Amino acid sequence: MYEQVKLDYGFADLEPYIDTLTMETHYGKHHAAYTANLNAAAEKAGVADKPIEELLSSLVIIEDPALRTAVRNNGGGFYNHNLYFANFSPNAQHAPSGKLAEQIDKQFGSFEALKEELSKKAAGQFGSGWAWLSANTKGELIVDTSPNQDNPFMAGEGYTPLLALDVWEHAYYLKYKNLRADYIKAYFEILDWKKVGERYEALG
Ligand code: MN
Repeated sequence: MYEQVKLDYGFADLEPYIDTLTMETHYGKHHAAYTANLNAAAEKAGVADKPIEELLSSLVIIEDPALRTAVRNNGGGFYNHNLYFANFSPNAQHAPSGKLAEQIDKQFGSFEALKEELSKKAAGQFGSGWAWLSANTKGELIVDTSPNQDNPFMAGEGYTPLLALDVWEHAYYLKYKNLRADYIKAYFEILDWKKVGERYEALG
């Protein structure tokens, strides 16, 4: 049974960057639906006992194409939103520190440069999808995007996502309408780099 991440903040606590109604709808309806649909599809496909990371890394084991697509879309939606919501905090640490900060400086020159790269990629993702900061097995960082509810596990490159930036319109349209760039700026006001850094350090 796959379960939505429990939030350590309330729906209203991310105001004014993410509004309460968007949180209620996004977490309470969209994310809840992906989770319920994943549980139903994974049960039918006989794969519901697999950790989600493993399941999304090995979708080919599901023979039925319709079930495989259902697990891909809803399993992606389940995992991606768990990471997205878990990384927020009303008292966010606004810049990385420690090992992650060192690696960012080494690869991108500065934190500002990384943020700009992530923002540019997120803004440029055509249609619905996600922008990612991931790490490979050597601890190197990768910035990329995926369409729909796809994620780095599905690429099969051994990347582990550290940060997920949802650019589906449902993530911002109620407050920001068509202004995706404004939402991306707001995202970085509540993204907790302490949590992102802990994910990086947990990889060893
Ligand atoms: Mn979403």
